[in-house]
Amino acid sequence: MAREVTHRYIDPLAQVWIGAARRIGLRVVRTPDAYAATDGRGTLAIATDTELDADDSLAQMIFHELCHSLVEGEDAFRRADWGMDNTGPDHDWREHACLRVQWLLTGRHGLRGVFAPTTDFRAFWDTLSGDVLADRTDPSVQAAIVALRRSAHPPWAPALGEALAASARIAADAAKFAAPTADARPLWITVGAPPAPHPSGLPTGAGAGTCGTCAWRFEQRGASRCRQADGRVDPAWPACERFEAALDCQTCGACCRAAYHSVEVSRRDPAVAAHPELVVDRGHYLEIRRSGDRCAALHGGTVEDGRTTRYHCAIYDDRPRTCRDFTLGGAHCLTARRRVGLTL
Ligand code: SF4
Ligand code: SF4
Repeated sequence: MAREVTHRYIDPLAQVWIGAARRIGLRVVRTPDAYAATDGRGTLAIATDTELDADDSLAQMIFHELCHSLVEGEDAFRRADWGMDNTGPDHDWREHACLRVQWLLTGRHGLRGVFAPTTDFRAFWDTLSGDVLADRTDPSVQAAIVALRRSAHPPWAPALGEALAASARIAADAAKFAAPTADARPLWITVGAPPAPHPSGLPTGAGAGTCGTCAWRFEQRGASRCRQADGRVDPAWPACERFEAALDCQTCGACCRAAYHSVEVSRRDPAVAAHPELVVDRGHYLEIRRSGDRCAALHGGTVEDGRTTRYHCAIYDDRPRTCRDFTLGGAHCLTARRRVGLTL
């Protein structure tokens, strides 16, 4: 009598990522017709194994697509292929943002080798090293920062983080049994040790800085404290993932643009008499006129040749008290930079 087959073997890493995708809102199917595609209705189609490179895996493919979803945002679940058309000037930086996210999330678990992408953008991945978020004028870095912040929230969290942790455990165990042979180098030999935990509790960084050279460290009552970790730090500690060497208002402008909706001014503020054309009377308060999502006195910030041009305030010497009181590196500065995607 033929044996009744009641279960099906599924590669453990694939199982983890099929389950993670399901928890995040995607049903994974295999197809010989596309490398990877979403239909905007909850289906993620991934090429069958025979179409994938030998060093690729269903797990990596699903994870890569989830990194795209982090960059494109929750609305992109309702757009085919996350709304990306694979052409045009906006395509490259979105791919680069995706790979920066992939690089950072896998680096937390020693999985960069196992989860390396194998698309045309592999060449870009191979250039990544150190602090891959260092250049905040690069739109792909800004998009990656927004994506990383999204990763800590539903629908991605907690499934994405749990899937990465589970993958790290599986990979570490598989690596113990893997060894190169004459005709094959198993991918498992690329598994690395996760970085040592950062003493602040934040993810460990890869840059060359220290807490002592970080813009988010400040002194309070003779002690070094960190705005990001909201606790004491030792200036000698190496950089965490949120390290920033210096804050430059002219590459930021966050507090003058989308981070806050209004710059209120007092009727006695000298800026009101100096620049009446910029002042709007709201009856019970005055505010500086807006131009789109930014203060009308803020100039710059256009993207030229793939870089954001420097911001400047047209009335800087006469700026209102509200702006003078805003502290570079302060708690509101951190909030503002996070809101526009310049800081983790
Ligand atoms: S954000 Fe800066 S000061 Fe805070 S723990 Fe990280 S490196 Fe240290
Ligand atoms: S948010 Fe901070 S760094 Fe950015 S422009 Fe304002 S004060 Fe400068």
